[in-house]
Amino acid sequence: MKKIILTGDRPTGRLHVGHYVGSLRRRVELQDSGEYDRILIMVADAQALTDNADNPQKIRDNIIEVALDYLSCGLDPARSTLFVQSQIPELCELSFYYMNLVTVSRLQRNPTVKNEIQMRNFETSIPVGFFTYPISQAADITAFRATTVPVGEDQKPMLEQTKEIVRKFNAVYGETLVEPEILLPQNDACLRLPGIDGKAKMSKSLGNCIYLSESEADVRTKVMNMYTDPDHIRLTDPGKIEGNTVFTYLDAFCTDEKLHALLPEYETLEELKAHYRRGGLGDVKVKKLLNAVLQDTLALIRARRAEYQKDIPYVYEVLKKGSEAARAIAAETLADVRRAMRIDYFDDAELIASQSKKYAG
Ligand code: ATP
Ligand code: MG
Repeated sequence: MKKIILTGDRPTGRLHVGHYVGSLRRRVELQDSGEYDRILIMVADAQALTDNADNPQKIRDNIIEVALDYLSCGLDPARSTLFVQSQIPELCELSFYYMNLVTVSRLQRNPTVKNEIQMRNFETSIPVGFFTYPISQAADITAFRATTVPVGEDQKPMLEQTKEIVRKFNAVYGETLVEPEILLPQNDACLRLPGIDGKAKMSKSLGNCIYLSESEADVRTKVMNMYTDPDHIRLTDPGKIEGNTVFTYLDAFCTDEKLHALLPEYETLEELKAHYRRGGLGDVKVKKLLNAVLQDTLALIRARRAEYQKDIPYVYEVLKKGSEAARAIAAETLADVRRAMRIDYFDDAELIASQSKKYAG
């Protein structure tokens, strides 16, 4: 079986460092590994419209931002297909058929959607499109016969839902769809990077992000204002690591080698944490370290972005070509789905022959 990756992001804003550690960094590594037959990266504009129906301009403006972030992080259009979801109408048709295989109560149990409904104050008026987006996500994944989906932890319930749809479809209509596997970040801190406000998840919708394209000065200001341990007041006070966002970010971004290069008095992050716990290590020093680590990661991304920003028509062309290529793949899957569901009436010579025979007197 071919090894195929499908993943993506909603164009509801620029991408942030949570996206980077949760999924983007891994995608680039997987692309560079050369182990995959096909890599598809989707700008999920149709999904973004499910909770932004009244603000299409926001989605329109952010397509290019997300594409620029992709290219800046090292996704290479020669090796990865970058495309826009709404340009693949086959995805809508697949979703429509998959809806028959999912119950309302099953959708209501999805913990990520439950949480997002609360965050958006949708409790009394959930748009049907938003409620059913896990089904549309199953269509996105299966349309490309994806075997591997590298995403953050919040996507776990979506992958479970997709697998259920695949099993149900294959059981009812015959073996047609491929069951995908989720690929989560290896490191706990990257599963769900908290916001700079210490909230559970860095998210465009919560405005608690460090963006990949942010200036050096803005990143520094955000890091220096970050939440640490509120009881760590004097330098000599013992400090807490648990729930201390600065240390969570160090876990996500700083290797032992990087730490040792920047602060030679420590060999490992564990040593640094032990020092903070005992007391005698100030927040400013730790924040300065985090800032240096982040700037190191972001400098290359910023520099690449500046280059791509000089040729915006090229970036749109990448998306257009990618969308054409992606559409051709989705069309093949849809043809298989139609055949399996026995709605391929006009391509089935046997059907026409047997119905003719029935009425042949
Ligand atoms: P929105 O607020 O519009 O939902 P978002 O910031 O949650 O935006 P998405 O486009 O929904 O971003 O998510 C894109 C990908 O990035 C998904 O794979 C998701 O799991 C991952 N991701 C998003 N935020 C984080 C985070 N804070 N930590 C780790 N992974 C994340
Ligand atoms: Mg999200």
